[in-house]
Amino acid sequence: PDTAGPGEVRTTCAYCGVGCGILARPDGAGGITLRGDPEHPANHGRLCSKGFALGETLSQEDRLLAPRVDGQEVGWDTALGLVADRFSRTIAEHGPDSVAFYVSGQLLTEDYYVANKLMKGFIGSANIDTNSRLCMASTVAGHRRAFGTDTVPGTYEDLELADLVVLVGSNLAWCHPVLYQRLAAAKAARPGMKVVVVDPRRTATCDLADMHLALQPGSDVALFNRLLAAIDANGATDPAYLSHVEGYDAALGAAREEDGATTGLSTEELAAFCKLWLANERVVTVFSQGVNQSSSGSDKVNAILNCHLATGRIGRPGMGPFSVTGQPNAMGGREVGGLANTLACHLELENAAHRDLVRSFWDAPAIPEAAGPKAVDLFQRVREGRIKALWIICTNPAVSMPDADAVRDAIGACDFVVVSDVTDDTDTARLAHVLLPATGWGEKDGTVTNSERMISRQRAVLPPAGQARADWDILAEVGRRMGWTEAFDYRSAAEIFDEYAALSGLAAAMGRDFDILGLAGLGPSGYAALPPTRWPVTAQGTTERFFAKGGFFTPDGRARMVPVTARPPAARTGPRHPFRLNTGRIRDQWHTMTRTAKAPRLNQHLGEPFLEIHPADAAALGVAPATLVRVANPTGSCILRALVTDRVQQGQVFAPIHWTGVTAPSGRIDAVVPGVTDPLSGQPESKAAAVAVTQW
Ligand code: SF4
Repeated sequence: PDTAGPGEVRTTCAYCGVGCGILARPDGAGGITLRGDPEHPANHGRLCSKGFALGETLSQEDRLLAPRVDGQEVGWDTALGLVADRFSRTIAEHGPDSVAFYVSGQLLTEDYYVANKLMKGFIGSANIDTNSRLCMASTVAGHRRAFGTDTVPGTYEDLELADLVVLVGSNLAWCHPVLYQRLAAAKAARPGMKVVVVDPRRTATCDLADMHLALQPGSDVALFNRLLAAIDANGATDPAYLSHVEGYDAALGAAREEDGATTGLSTEELAAFCKLWLANERVVTVFSQGVNQSSSGSDKVNAILNCHLATGRIGRPGMGPFSVTGQPNAMGGREVGGLANTLACHLELENAAHRDLVRSFWDAPAIPEAAGPKAVDLFQRVREGRIKALWIICTNPAVSMPDADAVRDAIGACDFVVVSDVTDDTDTARLAHVLLPATGWGEKDGTVTNSERMISRQRAVLPPAGQARADWDILAEVGRRMGWTEAFDYRSAAEIFDEYAALSGLAAAMGRDFDILGLAGLGPSGYAALPPTRWPVTAQGTTERFFAKGGFFTPDGRARMVPVTARPPAARTGPRHPFRLNTGRIRDQWHTMTRTAKAPRLNQHLGEPFLEIHPADAAALGVAPATLVRVANPTGSCILRALVTDRVQQGQVFAPIHWTGVTAPSGRIDAVVPGVTDPLSGQPESKAAAVAVTQW
């Protein structure tokens, strides 16, 4: 049926940034049955393998059901009293920057809002960052440089309306499967549509591609600079649109200095790509982690944006640059100021007027003037002992951070570590002094924003397991116990959303893009019934797409083209570490597998950690298919099963990010990824380590 049946609850998938709608129904035995929501605009009833299996991941066998202190079950009163007391005492003795929160793009917007309000507004430190830093911080930095704020201009429908879709560093088929299905369906209905995949590796997404450009890792800037030079040489700029843009000459000057040689692509491939791009006005350039997770990630984003700005191919149906985010609420986290250098509603931490607005709205004692440490730096400060009390919420950094051994050791040596999660069975939870049971998917109630600015409700289908509480509720109670009674006097997610919506109206009055004032004052019933809604939502209605006629969020309203020059990855390959290591997701697992590994059918896809290695390289090393290999460099090592395939180029290897295990031997690939970051965005270079491979 096209509509919700009796007992079905409308909610949203817990995984990727596509943000698919789900109709879920309690099965009467503690679990749920589910199907795709035919009325949700992101998926129109579709779900991928992970979404379909969500109901199989809700078992309670490893659930954290009660608070624990040093391994002993305690009541909430004892646990939260201890957390508030230790944070207060640490701040009193060592100042506000001696404490930190590390949060997650899995949090709901309301959780995220309260965490940021507590740290930035009341504790008075910017020591809060999120695992979204590992996912799309380079896009945020690129958007802010070009547009003046972190705005995604287009919608998913643009991929279906385009005549050319260029997927850069995106294995959409595995990482955003329902969006891939929509693209595949559009191409099947309109075979003239062209798809280009730009990726060093031949991924499953290449099955749909008319052209696969297997460029050298890290050379995306050179490719798009080459395109910009071709746009200019062929008179393909849009002079009228360029009146909304600043910096064309400088960006073109930088672009002309590159000849594309560093891309590793042939002259013919480069010419064919440019010809296709120039011939199709309706072009969408989709980009994801292959662009973002790089020491030049921000420049890669701006190289892409430059081409769309120069041609005015932005904000109109079927055209524009399009960032697809990894996590279910990476976008909500961006909007709510979840990064160490931002404030709620796309306000800027380092802008005095923005700080004043938020401080007065929150009636907060102090808001820090400088950005806090980004994720890699935050854990560096933990390692140095400068951060003495750390609260990790809904994420597993001992596995997922680069330089994971060092991060594990830093957390292990920290004076006071609190972990809020659904389970005690993670490598990070095992390092905690205090474990706080949080509600999980199916129990949580709040909102998320997907990659096309669509705000959707996650609704509770089941009661909380054991004594689990919502993250916003736990954070608010700690805030009250630290003395800020009124500021954290929330009784529901709806109240938090209402406050957030009101703040967005003030931010919009200061010229910011994120405006959901039209959703303020919904009240409990309006919030409960909120349908999927794309922001902005003002009294005048909504805006489907941004920037078709300029209107950027810079002081003069014009976009900025940024001159960028290609830089190779930071790690150099050489005789001792000859392989370039790419990392990424597989189709049926999510993050560090705390949820997806519970579903037997998801484990059947690819059952153990592996290393894709080219047949010629395997032969040279004497590595037989399916034998074990050791991947190592000065950062660390891990053990993987050799998967000999020409999907990867010679000299390159690929490994999945999901497998855990903090003691050797393990398949935890982030143990060999160094903590090198993009200088602007702070996003780690997760796809370009230099490694040695040996038979194990
Ligand atoms: Fe969930 Fe993403 Fe799959 Fe949709 S595409 S069902 S949001 S994992």
